Amino acid sequence: MKPLYFTPGPAELYPTVHQHLQTALDEQIGSISHRSQKFRDIYRFTDEQLRILLNIPSSHGIFFTGSASEVWERVLLNCVEHESFHMVNGSFSRKFYDYAQSLHKFTHLLEKPFGKGFDFAETEVPEYAELVAITHNETSSGVQMRTSDIHRLKKKYSQKLFCVDMVSSAPYPDLDFGLIDSAFFSVQKAFGMPAGLGVWIASEACLEKAERLQRYDSLTIGAHHNLPTLWKLYKTFETPATPNVLFIYVLGKVAEDLNKIGIETIRKQTEEKAKALYRFLELSDGYQPFVEEERHRSQTVVVANTTKPSAEVIAAVKKAGMIVGSGYGKFKESQIRIANFPATSAGQINDLIEELKRAE
Ligand SMILES: *Cc1c(COP(=O)(O)O)cnc(C)c1O
Repeated sequence: MKPLYFTPGPAELYPTVHQHLQTALDEQIGSISHRSQKFRDIYRFTDEQLRILLNIPSSHGIFFTGSASEVWERVLLNCVEHESFHMVNGSFSRKFYDYAQSLHKFTHLLEKPFGKGFDFAETEVPEYAELVAITHNETSSGVQMRTSDIHRLKKKYSQKLFCVDMVSSAPYPDLDFGLIDSAFFSVQKAFGMPAGLGVWIASEACLEKAERLQRYDSLTIGAHHNLPTLWKLYKTFETPATPNVLFIYVLGKVAEDLNKIGIETIRKQTEEKAKALYRFLELSDGYQPFVEEERHRSQTVVVANTTKPSAEVIAAVKKAGMIVGSGYGKFKESQIRIANFPATSAGQINDLIEELKRAE
């Protein structure tokens, strides 16, 4: 029996990925030129499907990178002259901040303990911060920031560029790209694909900023995948470097499959599955939801404290053909992390709950 992966990335592949990969190989997509009309059609199709799925307006471009963490660097180089502001509550948001320090930006930090989340009301952005870096879903701790709070913050600080890491939640969050300047994700999380492709959404305001910074002698916006170059080629659905054509194709197809179901349905299913998981954790003796505040609980990565050592729970459910993630960092032994991505159905989540019960 093939195991089912409830790990938060790489994760269970979306059920249609096998077929799309097969079709791509049959059509020799691995061999076509990225300067060909065939590639431009693939890029255009994936762009269209992502626009529908995430409700992205024409003011924003959609670009491909090697991974999501690459985008941390791209955004900081292209959209920050001096100062960036980072909301940090776990390992991934912390790395975004670390990248800014490595790039010698003047960094502002608003930090919360592991397992805690951010609210609009208590968030003050420093006056000279040019970019606000928010991690919508902190994969290490299972904490999510409500999109309504992100939107209110942008409205309060409308002159600043807002960039949202939506790596382990997209396409779930209903981000308003009328407000949000930039967002990014990689495909091995909730899109259920193998790793190896990042997606960067950026607005004309980001492009204008990058073009302005490019004119300064003392500053670099980088040579690889800088925004003006990406955008110039994007106009004809091309890319500066040879991209991951195969995965750009598969991503377009998976996005099309999700669009056929409809994003509203996907969101509702995600919330129902998350509710079943949290309800189980709350009522059980063997587990406890790690994130106390309900409003901060992730809908896509559920983190639980385990009464037993987590390795025992992980081994027990593995025997039943299910793989759950261990805790992150120092919580490795005392927590499990469960991905709640579109690739796994409500029935499969219920099966997992039964096995977790048995392993209690
Ligand atoms: C996985 C992850 C990343 C990094 O993605 P890569 O594809 O490994 O570059 C960044 N942010 C969050 C929130 C993540 O979960």
